[in-house]
Amino acid sequence: MKAVYFHRHGGPEVLEYGDLPEPKPGPGQVLVRLRAAALNHLDLWVRQGWPGLKLAMPHIPGADGAGEVAALGEGVQGVAVGDRVVINGNLSCGRCEFCLAGQDNMCRQWGLLGETLPGTYAQYVVVPETNVLSLPAGFDYAAAAAASLVFLTAWHSLITRGRLQPGETVLVVGASGGVNTASVQIARLAGARVIVVGSSTRKLELAESLGAEVLIDRSKEDNWAKAVYKATGRRGADVVVDNVGAGATPLSLRAARKGGRILTVGNTGGPKYEIDHRFLFGKHLSIIGSTMGTHHDFRTAMGLVFEGRLKPVLDRQYPLAEARAALERLEAGDQMGKITLAID
Ligand code: ZN
Repeated sequence: MKAVYFHRHGGPEVLEYGDLPEPKPGPGQVLVRLRAAALNHLDLWVRQGWPGLKLAMPHIPGADGAGEVAALGEGVQGVAVGDRVVINGNLSCGRCEFCLAGQDNMCRQWGLLGETLPGTYAQYVVVPETNVLSLPAGFDYAAAAAASLVFLTAWHSLITRGRLQPGETVLVVGASGGVNTASVQIARLAGARVIVVGSSTRKLELAESLGAEVLIDRSKEDNWAKAVYKATGRRGADVVVDNVGAGATPLSLRAARKGGRILTVGNTGGPKYEIDHRFLFGKHLSIIGSTMGTHHDFRTAMGLVFEGRLKPVLDRQYPLAEARAALERLEAGDQMGKITLAID
């Protein structure tokens, strides 16, 4: 099968496009003939590698994908060959204390397609049958792949973990990335008021089109926490969505109201930074971290995507063979929403 892969960690130059053996589905697994994949920042970090990361090489990146079921492993009953499906890239054991409690994204053997296992930058991928969800007739593969991980992640963070309530004010730090555009829509759907801090007029216009009501341009307002204070009647935001980390979180702590919640699922700005500890206890703040979401969150969020109540924002699409250029666009940070790959 055609695939994009690397034999060693590094920059864009380590990516290769060529032929790899087609995987075979084991018991309880299905083989999916991918038609689209979507890019995530994670793909860049996995390619680059980090201390302690040990992958079987060559490694295929990609956590998001959609396509048709091409073959069934032994014992598969809930899915048929030819079904059009979207993949949930989160893999869990189904047996540990967390899985049994419905918290499968905390599974003791948790894994992710494209990180701990071969991913979706390929014509074929093998996943457990519990990790595919049928698409409604006519639903676009690229839109499904683009929606999967970001809506799952944002839903779990804002709704399951953050317990967002109607009438609350949500500050989203960042305007144009996949999780942020999903967070703006989910917050609006939950009945919250949304403030967005973005780096350019173009990106803020995108946030506005998704329902953000207050727009703060950080290229003009260096201390955006102050602008949030002004926009909330000197109260601060009830909830802050901060997936930036370094460069943002100290200001997020300032922008939150007393008793506010800071939600985080990532660190596109970097993992290490200094905070003023006094904000935490002095303002009764809660910092709530999570990674991805549960199977239940996936069905809920994708159900809303299928109904058109949540819409993935699609940036450019590249052919699979040009995944390197697609990842370079992601790394440059110029994208508006999700970059996808078309897989012939
Ligand atoms: Zn488990």
